[in-house]
Amino acid sequence: MESVSQLKKPTPAELLDRAKRVGTEVAAVHAADVDARARFPKEAFDRLRAEGLLGAFVPEDLGGFGCKIDDLSAMCEALGQHCASTAMIFAMHQIQVACLVRHGLGSAFFRTYLTDLARRQVLIASVTSEVGVGGSMRTSICAVERQDGGVRLKKNATTISYGEAADDLLITCRRATDAAESDQVLVLGRRADCQLEKTSDWDTLGMRGTCSPGFVVTLAGPEDLVLPVPFADISSRTMVPVSHLLWSSLWLGIATAAVSRARAFVREDARRRPGTVPPTATRLAEVYSSLQSMRANVHDAAHECRELMDSPQGDEALSTVGFALKINNLKIAISQMAVQVIHQALLICGIAGYKNDSKFSVGRHLRDAHSAALMVGNDRIYATNASLLLVLKDD
Ligand SMILES: Cc1cc2nc3c(=O)[nH]c(=O)nc-3n(C[C@H](O)[C@H](O)[C@H](O)COP(=O)(O)OP(=O)(O)OC[C@H]3O[C@@H](n4cnc5c(N)ncnc54)[C@H](O)[C@@H]3O)c2cc1C
Repeated sequence: MESVSQLKKPTPAELLDRAKRVGTEVAAVHAADVDARARFPKEAFDRLRAEGLLGAFVPEDLGGFGCKIDDLSAMCEALGQHCASTAMIFAMHQIQVACLVRHGLGSAFFRTYLTDLARRQVLIASVTSEVGVGGSMRTSICAVERQDGGVRLKKNATTISYGEAADDLLITCRRATDAAESDQVLVLGRRADCQLEKTSDWDTLGMRGTCSPGFVVTLAGPEDLVLPVPFADISSRTMVPVSHLLWSSLWLGIATAAVSRARAFVREDARRRPGTVPPTATRLAEVYSSLQSMRANVHDAAHECRELMDSPQGDEALSTVGFALKINNLKIAISQMAVQVIHQALLICGIAGYKNDSKFSVGRHLRDAHSAALMVGNDRIYATNASLLLVLKDD
């Protein structure tokens, strides 16, 4: 069998087709069980690995597919239509890869690491949240300690999605023990250098397959593990825009799936009463218009992110006040609209949508979508936007 590293670079259409097939042939089949048992979607990740998709964003000269951010967005949207947990884990992994690709290529260590990631299809989890700072990503209590050419750190993380299934971690912490709480770096936690002690369980309303309990992470390893760029830059230029875009893409996918079920319900209703338009068809027209707005918003942001990332002045543009407001607003709008749209789909399907054992059920979609407003709390983002608007020069 051809190994992943030998696969020919797929076109964007081929990449999307692969993600769609993972969605329909694997993720959809196991989604209900993943949700019911709050278990890692292993089957979907085995297939994503076999398709080489975990290294999709790694540059071609390092053995990846060198795909663009809008390709990742389309893949997240496709996966989100079948299993939200699979799509969220895929998105979170790609966010970590994007940080390494866009800020680590100046380091020989990270070039080798990314080559290995593409070859072995390594899965990376994110450790930004911490007991004591809540969801404030730009604040850390834990700090890197340097000793005898090596680094150590200990972080009490509130939530690490797929912490047990991940191969490696990317951890935020203060640059040094005497650094300010916002003077952070990003540290690669290779599994062999880390110990994880689970501190809580993950029995939640939705996104159950992300398996995201708390852990105390202890790391000891070489100095090379610290990314050579301040986290402040990584955060504004990559982690925040890519997170908000990829999360929004998969939330759009969840909403699309719920509307598809509503559409199927209305069609079945219409077939039962030939020659009449069912009353639910008007509600369907209404929800379809909301879905179209969501789609336009996400696709426009994906296109803009790609253009900025491809342009020589992109890094500056990605960290302007204007763009930060725009991408924060995308996250807020799509996280709210996803829940509203799925709720409208529920009203269309009625009891058939409310039942878990019905082909029109949208219960899982609704539960999963409720996590969207919490993943970096919308109130926190509104507070950030309020400060940004005070200094916005022109719109
Ligand atoms: C499905 C899922 C997966 C996750 N995976 C990970 C992961 O892999 N790694 C990771 O590090 N984290 C992860 N998280 C955590 C996530 O990124 C956030 O850190 C976390 O959801 C925020 O937790 P919080 O609501 O307790 O914290 P906070 O953001 O501190 O919010 C607490 C409360 O305060 C309110 N609040 C906060 N700031 C303001 C303000 N300025 N004005 C008004 N109200 C405010 C909020 O609305 C909320 O009610 C995950 C979360 C979810 C839901």
